[in-house]
Amino acid sequence: MNNKTLAILKPDCVKKNLIGKVITLIQEAGFKVSAIKMIKLTPETAKGFYEVHTGKFFFNDLIAYMTSGPCVPIALEKENAVEDFRKLIGATDPAKAAEGTIRKLYADNMQENIVHGSDSDENALKEIAHFFSRKELLEINGL
Ligand code: ADP
Ligand code: MG
Repeated sequence: MNNKTLAILKPDCVKKNLIGKVITLIQEAGFKVSAIKMIKLTPETAKGFYEVHTGKFFFNDLIAYMTSGPCVPIALEKENAVEDFRKLIGATDPAKAAEGTIRKLYADNMQENIVHGSDSDENALKEIAHFFSRKELLEINGL
């Protein structure tokens, strides 16, 4: 079992001034922040990150949304990280998300849903590597 996952506080989270509130919920749920930064995705990096959704009806809107402003990728650690984080954020569509989840609390709609969470252990490692280089992670954590 993996103990790592990747979160992204998406551009709507940053614009709505919710970075602090969302990170508080993440930390209170027992996740350790192991790396964090603020970046602005380019269309190329956004398309690469969401490659699996290429060709879907919402793909172009998704890329426009994810490049509309800065976002905050965060490498997280916790036992059972991937599954527990998906539970904490709730369903993709906030209208269907469980009470108390981050998307239920703060998301406006199915596209602007505040936060990303990896969906498998394999993808978690790939996604962390997408935003944080090995060298960078080494420098941050001294391991
Ligand atoms: P999740 O982020 O819950 O893993 P997906 O991987 O299915 O969801 O989709 C990636 C992102 O694409 C979603 O978080 C959302 O921003 C956007 N998205 C997904 N499905 C739709 C849809 N039907 N309409 C608009 N945007 C969508
Ligand atoms: Mg997904």
